Amino acid sequence: MVNLKSLAEEELAGFVRSLGLPAYRTRQLLHWIYEKRALSLQEMTVLPKALRERLSRAAYIGNLTLLDRSISADGAEKFLFGLDDGEAVETVLIPEGSRTTICVSSQVGCAMNCRFCLTGRGGFVRDLKAHEIVDQVIAVQRLCAPRAVTNIVFMGTGEPLKNLSNVIEAVRRMNGLLKISRRRITVSTSGVVPEIDRLAGMSPSVNLAVSLNAATDELRSLLMPVNRRYPIRSLISACRRYPLEPRRRITFEYILFDGLNDSKRDAQRLVGLLRGIPSKLNLIPFNPYDGAEFRRPADGKVEAFRDMIQSRGITAVVRKSRGRDILAACGQLRGGQSPREHPVCMSETTSCRAAL
Ligand code: SF4
Repeated sequence: MVNLKSLAEEELAGFVRSLGLPAYRTRQLLHWIYEKRALSLQEMTVLPKALRERLSRAAYIGNLTLLDRSISADGAEKFLFGLDDGEAVETVLIPEGSRTTICVSSQVGCAMNCRFCLTGRGGFVRDLKAHEIVDQVIAVQRLCAPRAVTNIVFMGTGEPLKNLSNVIEAVRRMNGLLKISRRRITVSTSGVVPEIDRLAGMSPSVNLAVSLNAATDELRSLLMPVNRRYPIRSLISACRRYPLEPRRRITFEYILFDGLNDSKRDAQRLVGLLRGIPSKLNLIPFNPYDGAEFRRPADGKVEAFRDMIQSRGITAVVRKSRGRDILAACGQLRGGQSPREHPVCMSETTSCRAAL
């Protein structure tokens, strides 16, 4: 039995041909799966009953299983979805005025081992397949209808660029089948330099968000082991090479840790790194969790840091975490565990990401 969602568009066309069906049946299937969000072949009333039964003997429409749903007082929602193999993955929905953003996970767990990240502590389990990424969007859209999704960010669990082939295929389907513009899709990374270049080869390109968090190799390597392999200089060079459409900018995320990376000297170094790159800097005060070894700076320090950056001509915004009451903030997603057991925060900040 074939899960029709597991097939890329061309593969689905091949499957339809193999059954001796005309090409327009492919378009009907795509429309019902991705736009009407049908849960089963039986819902596809556009198909004759005999055809639905024939298809059902060879194929089905797979769906994520909703295991848990937490709604924050500020409107953000976190979903825990079960996968076919018993693993689970978290997805966050963030309403913000007329904009509705879905933050998708790209892996079960994460291997990057960033020191400040609760998500990474559980280790890496496996990559998500393209359809498991896309299905997070389909499932949330179905659960939240009629609210329409306007933006997608790859900032949930996992390092998207370590699962790039599936991420690229997922973007292709979000764009072509879910009709979400690539200008509204952002892929974030902790700094996997060769894959940034590979992502840059996508045309048209998606938005790029880079989790920076430190302005020296010494500190960044301490916080993010990926920096030992791809130091700041090579990361910034890859960002300078990244193709940007007019008026587009790279988002840099910088989690502020009290007394660690929030000094005037840090601000000066940061400005030096970003100078000349069309960029926006998201400053994310660290969201402490039980057992965290870092502290959140006082609000006054955060504002002073932002002002130092802005006074030197770099756009800097302080991102306030939302949904803390349900623990869905950046770097705090932990697929497979109940959000009630692991309340993190839920918001515009993921451990590594906050490009909303
Ligand atoms: S911050 Fe991001 S890349 Fe780093 S361990 Fe956490 S999920 Fe992985």
